[in-house]
Amino acid sequence: MMKKECIFCKIINHEASARIEYEDKDVIAFWDINPSAPTHVLVAPKKHIKSINELENKDIISKMMFTAKKIAKAKKIAQSGYRLVINTGPWSGQIVDHLHLHLL
Ligand code: 5GP
Ligand code: ZN
Repeated sequence: MMKKECIFCKIINHEASARIEYEDKDVIAFWDINPSAPTHVLVAPKKHIKSINELENKDIISKMMFTAKKIAKAKKIAQSGYRLVINTGPWSGQIVDHLHLHLL
């Protein structure tokens, strides 16, 4: 389930600190350490999945999207607008190999 050297797994296990915005049994949402927008939250599955390429079904991705939508509403950016971005693989700029959705 957890990958020892993975920074996002450490955040999920509260072994590394992060500004956590939301969590439940499936997903966690926390603020990006190096924000690219006034609101920059990352939504990740609690299970270590490397990227979209390793997805086994559509469930977690829909949960991540829905969580991002709820956070956008809570942060009052739902009407002004936001982007949801998932980088996949080295040429996309993915630097953390634990699936995550950027809410910007
Ligand atoms: P990627 O390029 O892999 O899609 O994005 C990874 C994101 O994770 C980057 O925006 C980066 O700033 C963020 N990040 C990397 N390490 C940490 C960390 O230890 N804590 C937090 N909160 N964000 C991190
Ligand atoms: Zn991980």
